Amino acid sequence: MSLTMDTPLSRVVGPKTAKVMAEQLALHTVRDLLRHYPRRYARRGEMTRLGDLEVGDRVTVLAQVKKVSSRPMRQRRGILTEVTVGDGAGSMRLVFFNSKHAHLAVGEWGLFAGTVGKWHGDLQFTHPDCHVITGDDDDWARALVPIYPASKDVSSWVIQKSVKLLMDDPRSLAEALDDPIPEPVRDRHGLVALATALLYKHRPESAAQVEFADERLKWDEALVLQATLAARRRAAALEPGIARPRRSGGLLDAVDAALPFSLTGGQRDVGEELAAELSEEQPMNRLLQGEVGSGKTVVALRAMAQVVDAGGQAALLAPTEVLAAQHARSLAAILGPLGRAGELDGDPAGTRVVLLTGSQKAAARREARAAVADGSAGIVVGTHALLQEDVEFADLGLVVVDEQHRFGVEQRDALRAKGARPPHVLVMTATPIPRTVAMTVYGDLETSTLRQLPAGRGGVSSAVVPAGEKPAWLDRAWQRVREEVAAGRQAYVVCPRIGDVEGGSGKDEDGPDDADAPPPETGGSSDRRPPLAVLDVAEALRAGPLSSLRVEVLHGRMAPEDKEARMRAFAAGEVDVLVATTVVEVGVDVPNATVMVVMDADRFGVSQLHQLRGRVARGQHAGLCLLVTEAPTSSATGQRLTAVAATTDGFELARLDLETRREGDVLGAAQSGRRSGVRLLSLLDDEQLIAEARVEATRLVEAGRGLADHPELAAAVAALSLDERAEYLEKA
Ligand code: ADP
Ligand code: MG
Repeated sequence: MSLTMDTPLSRVVGPKTAKVMAEQLALHTVRDLLRHYPRRYARRGEMTRLGDLEVGDRVTVLAQVKKVSSRPMRQRRGILTEVTVGDGAGSMRLVFFNSKHAHLAVGEWGLFAGTVGKWHGDLQFTHPDCHVITGDDDDWARALVPIYPASKDVSSWVIQKSVKLLMDDPRSLAEALDDPIPEPVRDRHGLVALATALLYKHRPESAAQVEFADERLKWDEALVLQATLAARRRAAALEPGIARPRRSGGLLDAVDAALPFSLTGGQRDVGEELAAELSEEQPMNRLLQGEVGSGKTVVALRAMAQVVDAGGQAALLAPTEVLAAQHARSLAAILGPLGRAGELDGDPAGTRVVLLTGSQKAAARREARAAVADGSAGIVVGTHALLQEDVEFADLGLVVVDEQHRFGVEQRDALRAKGARPPHVLVMTATPIPRTVAMTVYGDLETSTLRQLPAGRGGVSSAVVPAGEKPAWLDRAWQRVREEVAAGRQAYVVCPRIGDVEGGSGKDEDGPDDADAPPPETGGSSDRRPPLAVLDVAEALRAGPLSSLRVEVLHGRMAPEDKEARMRAFAAGEVDVLVATTVVEVGVDVPNATVMVVMDADRFGVSQLHQLRGRVARGQHAGLCLLVTEAPTSSATGQRLTAVAATTDGFELARLDLETRREGDVLGAAQSGRRSGVRLLSLLDDEQLIAEARVEATRLVEAGRGLADHPELAAAVAALSLDERAEYLEKA
């Protein structure tokens, strides 16, 4: 059988197994199966570790059946079978009730996977999964037996057998495999060939072989990713944009004159950096990261003004309607008459700021679109609606994407494609990005950082309120809210859900316009009570602890004009307490709000909490953020919240966030398509490797004919981008 990476699995394992593998594990081709790596390895001698295990741990042991005995049960009808298994070093008991597994015979070797339990002081498995290793199977002789991620109908053993089919003749395997890592690169970094690595990974003879395999296979992932990004950079460099040099006496000078504060050192430095890059033909491609409240908007506005002065247009893409409207409002406020050129009281030397969102009335939208198309609107602020095909720019010179973590690469590209020549791009995020992530997910962006907060900020302190353990603390929290309001301040209460929707909780989250995907830890167990809801909590607060205050709600199901009006009322101080979903998460700027109470804080991700907290550290008054949870303080969740409360260092939090999320989530869904091809690579631990791969990838892509000189690597890059594209099409 001649195989390639793209051979369908049905030709290897037969149509029936192939079908379930495709359905349940998304394994379709030889490549998929070979890249379906063991999660870990069962070892002979594992039982010596049993003493370290705790009740509830799930383990797989490789052992021999020592004794089998069956007897009728005393309390119930039926047969109880006890099996003792051992591996020479230790032994344990397996228990089966009325089970067909009575067929286990003394002397047989097998793999037994189960959850450790205890019975009269002895460790035991109740109803473990059993896989007897039969005579024609030489696997029992191995020191390490691979344990694969399995599914209901495709067990680890089936996968092991299927992989073995592929590996039976290592030489034909070596021929079937195109190694994406060029030999000189392998030599430089001491990496084994792909066929060897796969053999070591799937059928190791020692732990050292697994290590060799891992190192090499991580390189695959890092190199393919970095080559993809390097190719993108190279393509971008080949297509010049338009230089937008600074001009004095224009909008930028007017903005600087109108600012009610002086820029921080960081704002000035980054401003210079942007001004210089905008003056070049080579399109700027920059990520601006800065703590919540560090003043990124002004930096963006000044860049936009420079582009407008040079005759171009600037678009600001915001993740929510609330935020887009707020940006448009505050830009218009700073610009004054300069932002109303063409209107009666406008300054003809200025430009127009227009807002373009999906919920606008048809007439307003048409008018905005026309102003964008004829170039009279120099600054265009909007949501996803900006990406629509019917939005055409006269001369798009700069794209600013606010709060990047809400947008995928594709959306950034869609907007970029609206310029006749590639526009300059500035991406802003408050979620600090560890260096590895910046190199990987954001690998095609240069990075600037605003480290300093504007002077005179009160800062924010945080505390966890364990409402389950100490209900009195929650009363105290509401008392704090009353005190702040009495002192003239305002408060947010944030809940994970809107509530009050027909048909239960299914569709009850805020739409993509408002809410991030829920953090992974919210998935799963359905026996938890539903998350607290805005409408219920507001009701309870009005009737109870906050009955003397003006309490209003804000969420994604409200009509856009109502949201806008509510936000305006809150900003104007006409509302004391705003009970909201994560619509307030990004960028909302009400400096007089000083307390935030996050209900069911455990339902939010680390960076989401950090973002939320940023809403109450925006003025000169000290802010307070209370994370209310029913999770026990000692639980992992409780610890996570305590850690969030203990630091406001964004970089530390980003690390914590990475630790608590699966890495695939960081690299994947949110940023560049779910199937980012990363399985083994760790953004936390493999910083060095990623940096080296970046150097090699850049070298390969920029020398000679680039990827064309490395067809194997090019194919791997294409496979990755194809996956991404498929993902994108699915979403559309
Ligand atoms: P973020 O970086 O989170 O987007 P913003 O741009 O919304 O922060 O700025 C937060 C607040 O700080 C705004 O009210 C803004 O007007 C104010 N601000 C920005 N720069 C300065 C500065 N240099 N001095 C004082 N206040 C500033
Ligand atoms: Mg902002």
